[in-house]
Amino acid sequence: MSAVPDGKKLVRSPSGLRMVPENGAFTSPFSLDEPQWVPDKECPRCMQCDTKFDFITRKHHCRRCGRCFCDKCCSQKVALPRMCFVDPVRQCSECSLISQKEMEFYDKQLKVLTAGGTFLVKVDSSEKSETMVCRLSNNQRYLFLDGESHFEVELSRISSMQVLTESSTPGEKDICSYMSLLDSQISEEKDVCSYTSLLDSQISEGGSLRASGMVLQYKPPESLNLQQLHMETADDKRVASAWLTAMHKAAKLLYESRDQ
Ligand SMILES: [Zn+2]
Ligand SMILES: [Zn+2]
Repeated sequence: MSAVPDGKKLVRSPSGLRMVPENGAFTSPFSLDEPQWVPDKECPRCMQCDTKFDFITRKHHCRRCGRCFCDKCCSQKVALPRMCFVDPVRQCSECSLISQKEMEFYDKQLKVLTAGGTFLVKVDSSEKSETMVCRLSNNQRYLFLDGESHFEVELSRISSMQVLTESSTPGEKDICSYMSLLDSQISEEKDVCSYTSLLDSQISEGGSLRASGMVLQYKPPESLNLQQLHMETADDKRVASAWLTAMHKAAKLLYESRDQ
């Protein structure tokens, strides 16, 4: 599936020009749909400062949340790559903040993820591990693992992810997060999926904990059983550890927008 070229096309929406995949099935898992705009008749006043709209005070819709604001409360134009906008778009102050934070993910982490890292990879309960380079595909939909063998994991099929860390004492390992990216279509286990990002700030680049591995559970296509992938940093551990930290942020982004 991933061999299909990912063509893109320009589309015009009321909010601006968007560059989207030609085939909707190849939409990035990080992308968000455009919101429904709150209808004009339902918002006589600015939803932030309560100023009444009239002939002079015009209303504007936030491109990210679709709510109505006066010019003052919705004046910022901020990049919104998650909705595929080509240019920065008008957003309310709340949404601007979120979008600005996400830019860090697009500017830094996404590049780290597509560049890849080297890991010792074990599939399921196999004793044998293989040195593989793991990277995010350019369309952001797959993790490609390449060593002597090749396989791929579709992000939307990942049901849980644990990032393992090495605390300051060498050899001592903590499981520091567990999260589910599983979307509703493959979510019979939804009730066991919870999100506890215990050490969010500590695993960041400057934090006291360094990510040393990851355990992924995912459901391969046409399979009913979950498979487990165990990855440990190898070779250049600094690069691999940065990759895991970026993956952790990616998972958080996906998790948080799961119900949006
Ligand atoms: Zn206002
Ligand atoms: Zn907004």
